[in-house]
Amino acid sequence: NSCNGILHIVKVRMSSNAAASMSAWQINRYGGIEELTLSTTTRAATIKNPNELLVRVHASSINPIDIRMMGGYGKALINVLRQQKGVTQSGTEFPLILGRDFSGTVVETGRNVTKFKVGDEVWGAIGAERPGTHAKYTVVSQSEISKKPLNISHIEAASMPYVAATSWAALCTVGELTERKAVGKRVLIFGGSGGIGTFSIQLLSSWGMDVTATCSTDAIDLVRSLGANSVVDYKVKPIWNELKHQKRFDYILDTLGGEYTTNGVKLLSPWQNSKLITLVTPLLKNSDTLGLIPGMLKSAVTAGIDSIKGLKSGGSVRWAFFLPNGAAMEKVKQMVEAEQIKPVVQETIPFSKVPDGFRTVSNGHLRGKIVIDNL
Ligand code: NDP
Repeated sequence: NSCNGILHIVKVRMSSNAAASMSAWQINRYGGIEELTLSTTTRAATIKNPNELLVRVHASSINPIDIRMMGGYGKALINVLRQQKGVTQSGTEFPLILGRDFSGTVVETGRNVTKFKVGDEVWGAIGAERPGTHAKYTVVSQSEISKKPLNISHIEAASMPYVAATSWAALCTVGELTERKAVGKRVLIFGGSGGIGTFSIQLLSSWGMDVTATCSTDAIDLVRSLGANSVVDYKVKPIWNELKHQKRFDYILDTLGGEYTTNGVKLLSPWQNSKLITLVTPLLKNSDTLGLIPGMLKSAVTAGIDSIKGLKSGGSVRWAFFLPNGAAMEKVKQMVEAEQIKPVVQETIPFSKVPDGFRTVSNGHLRGKIVIDNL
């Protein structure tokens, strides 16, 4: 035992030394892709809380939220979280490292970490207040991660955590959907070809749902191959005529907002506890432009109006947000190992070329995910 103890201290010291300073892509002020700078002397990510772990990041992905956060989106609310959790002590969020998800190896554990040990291969998505994963090391909480699936590479694994945790938050936490309730129900997904769409189609189809997804012409084969029973091409003609003649839906996952939320409500099965869950909400933008409290109040009013729209149609409209969720990552891990869900990687970017990946994500039209090889 004392030998093990000494070994552990040596391991912790070695890994701490390894992370004294690290390489990271960071921004020093809000702006466009030109603000991204590769620093080799960024202060090392360090464990501050006994539930945290230090992870060597092997791969991470780029999400639309990274592009928005680079421009300052959400800063009012996220800065409050940063202060509450002691992430920013110097009064500024800069230098700011972007990147919300990762696949990697545990190199150090806080004293209350019970589920993981040094050397474990793990994956997960981390809270918006944390310094990000576009770096050689990142600090995560044990509640945000699970072991990585054994049957896929780190690059493939890194394509999933942020979209998996967001889809889980939307469908299961906010939408109260479970595998048992899902069987035989009809779901419509607006935006089937991107990160959220490619993940959600696979999750819901393997839970036995009848999945309809919208996408553009060139993505139809991909979306079908992931398990969509019916695909509606939004490029050839407006989708509403075709959709309104179909049997109504029990769940709608909306990744597009605007007219998709307003018209989507009318496609819900009336008076069946059906739900449209939207990932496009004005909460963060309102807080940025109006200030924290007025922004939240305005958002509460809009959320109320949205839920009235749902009630009038005999369903409900709910707002959803990304939430880190280690337990969900564990379930997804099992589904990946059972080959019910597979990674959809459009392109892998070397760590030295991260701005190219940001450009690709900014240009849109993604087919799955853009993944960074952090090694
Ligand atoms: P991606 O950029 O990976 O995918 C978006 C996909 O939508 C692309 O494949 C695009 O392809 C397709 N698309 C665009 N317009 C339409 C349309 N009119 N009809 C059907 N498909 C369309 O984004 P994600 O999947 O990662 O995220 C989607 C959105 O979800 C984000 O932009 C964000 O607004 C929201 N989100 C919100 C979160 C939250 O916490 N609230 C968290 C994560 C995401 P093409 O243009 O070629 O058709």
